[in-house]
Amino acid sequence: KHGGRNRYSYFTPDLQLAAQARQQVALDLRLALAERQFELHYQPIVNLRGGAIVRAEALLRWRHPQRGLLCPVDFLPFAESSGLIVEIGDWVFRQAADQVRLWQDGLDPAFQVSVNLSPAQLRGDAALCRGWFEHVAALGLPARSIVIEIAEGVLLDQAGPVVERLRALRAMGLQVALDDFGTGYSSLAHLKRFDIDLLKIDRSFVQDLVSDSGDLALCEAVIVMAHKLGLQVVAEGVETAAQCALLMAAGCDFAQGYVFAKPMPAAALAALARQGPAALPGA
Ligand code: C2E
Ligand code: MG
Ligand code: MG
Ligand code: MG
Repeated sequence: KHGGRNRYSYFTPDLQLAAQARQQVALDLRLALAERQFELHYQPIVNLRGGAIVRAEALLRWRHPQRGLLCPVDFLPFAESSGLIVEIGDWVFRQAADQVRLWQDGLDPAFQVSVNLSPAQLRGDAALCRGWFEHVAALGLPARSIVIEIAEGVLLDQAGPVVERLRALRAMGLQVALDDFGTGYSSLAHLKRFDIDLLKIDRSFVQDLVSDSGDLALCEAVIVMAHKLGLQVVAEGVETAAQCALLMAAGCDFAQGYVFAKPMPAAALAALARQGPAALPGA
């Protein structure tokens, strides 16, 4: 308040407008849930030994009646700040589980779908997680068909309750993947502490693999360490054959990225997986 005009003025018209806009998006999101405007797209995760597509990541999309198909960057922050992510995420989980159940008839019965979770979903009511487990059980799905993805940074910040909830989900048989690994400033030593099955190397380290020997060294070290800890490694955001070749040489288990396919509707993913193994670029 002493810093001169405009410095601490909380109620400039701009801020008021922004607050109104936020409120409007929250209302729109609630409506979107009720009107079933959300959909899941699926991106294949390719086994780098042979090219089989036996996993996919479910990614949330909002088919907005005026604005068209929206990606999470356009609405996830509002879903999180309004708390609606808990309800939306519950829908995501159930929708993904229903989809794997349908795929079991046509695809590999061991097919796994991963679902991204926001921290609020793990901080809340324990009944939520039990509900998911019951849903999976009612479908007759093996629990390991579902992989929970949680960002590395989240585990570091929220430790206690979130780690407990993840442990419970894992005890029920779901798998857990540490997403965006490398962005959360945790050391490799932290990996031992977390109760996880998979590690996803963030796209930012894959991007410059070819030009940045430091990034390559980091990926190689992460892969070796992960394997020693009994974890499998997925590389995210693989866009070129050269990146793919380096990752294969480094012993990476799985890759996901535009070099294989962008996220796509469920039917397209099934058609792709049914064609058999993907060609491994750079092999
Ligand atoms: P993420 O979990 O790290 O997912 C990977 C993101 O990278 C996806 O963006 C995917 O489309 C994109 N991607 C994949 N391959 C490539 C590539 O080769 N190049 C580039 N440039 N990008 C690639 P998307 O679908 O926009 O999702 C962004 C983020 O939103 C996700 O990052 C995840 O953190 C979050 N998210 C998505 N769906 C959900 C959800 O259902 N619930 C929650 N809580 N978060 C979600
Ligand atoms: Mg993810
Ligand atoms: Mg990621
Ligand atoms: Mg991310």
